[in-house]
Amino acid sequence: MNLASDNVVGMSRPVLDALIAANGGGEPAYGADSWTAKAEKMLADVFEHEVSAFLIATGTGANALALAALTPPWGAVFCHEESHVIDDECGAPEMFTDGAKLVGIRGSGGKFTVAALEETLERYVPGVVKSVQPAAMSVSQVTEAGTLYSLDEIRTLTGVAKAHKLGTHLDGARFANAMVALGCTAAEMTWKSGIDVVSFGATKNGALACEAVIFFDKARAENFQYRRKRSGHTVSKGRLLGAQMVGYLENGHWIDNARHANAMAATLASGLGAVPGVRLPWPTQANEIFAVVPEGVAAALAAEGIRAAPWGSLSLPEGFVIGAGERFLRFVTSFATEAAQIERVVAVAKAATTRTAAE
Ligand SMILES: *Cc1c(COP(=O)(O)O)cnc(C)c1O
Repeated sequence: MNLASDNVVGMSRPVLDALIAANGGGEPAYGADSWTAKAEKMLADVFEHEVSAFLIATGTGANALALAALTPPWGAVFCHEESHVIDDECGAPEMFTDGAKLVGIRGSGGKFTVAALEETLERYVPGVVKSVQPAAMSVSQVTEAGTLYSLDEIRTLTGVAKAHKLGTHLDGARFANAMVALGCTAAEMTWKSGIDVVSFGATKNGALACEAVIFFDKARAENFQYRRKRSGHTVSKGRLLGAQMVGYLENGHWIDNARHANAMAATLASGLGAVPGVRLPWPTQANEIFAVVPEGVAAALAAEGIRAAPWGSLSLPEGFVIGAGERFLRFVTSFATEAAQIERVVAVAKAATTRTAAE
């Protein structure tokens, strides 16, 4: 059982079916096909807005190219210090922006506050030649700690960003999980809350390799097609990306998948949270559970073939200390997670603490 991430599973059936349906016959290449056109139309419907949408096979590509559209090479992009764009993309944002600076902001639970953003902005002064020029803000939703920004928090952050003339980006690798958890619409979580550009993830929630960069303002998307091509991210058999997005969005499948993953996560969080000695540093708000567990529990899970990801974080709440006999683990649920698997994880953890207590 592998709960280390939500990209350890394959595709969900309706996405695979769409891919198979798109496999026969001939279609124009490089995204000029009917599947991609349908995907673009569906994305416009989902966001209740005209969009310029660009399908891309990886989240790193989507983020890096989206940021490149928002900043000049001498610009600064403000984001959480543990954001995916800083920690997990091998310098792709720096490369595709031709060297813009990613400025990390500290904050508990994977989120930064308006106060922290404002304090950081004071150090980057527009027009001062020694300073990189404030250009963009990027927030992750779901965050890297599995938490969520409320709509109010997004609006407040983008309000400050706009006042400083920053473009705003939302890294939505887990967009559906966040939207479903907040019980809001895609429009409310993005353009209605001041977001200019979205990396809309589908891969982790059911696709094989498909994300979309979404612009709400056509002017910002000008030249994006060249950016995507010169970075090697324009897929020649583009219909196979289009088909994944169609299968993902059709009949609300993406929402069903996210609801299921989130529900599994909530069950796991309450089950694990009730095991003596297990501590959760943050609430589980979407499909990721972060748990500090006694060493014996971590060992028992591993011995049972249950995989979680060993974690580390700079954004633990103040005063939250991980002891020498403890392990910090991340569990991620997905559309494919089964209730019986969650029960087993909790049972193994419980049994391990009971054993330890008896020794
Ligand atoms: C998974 C993830 C991505 C995309 O990663 P790729 O592996 O490049 O597809 C982007 N942002 C966040 C927060 C993620 O968790």
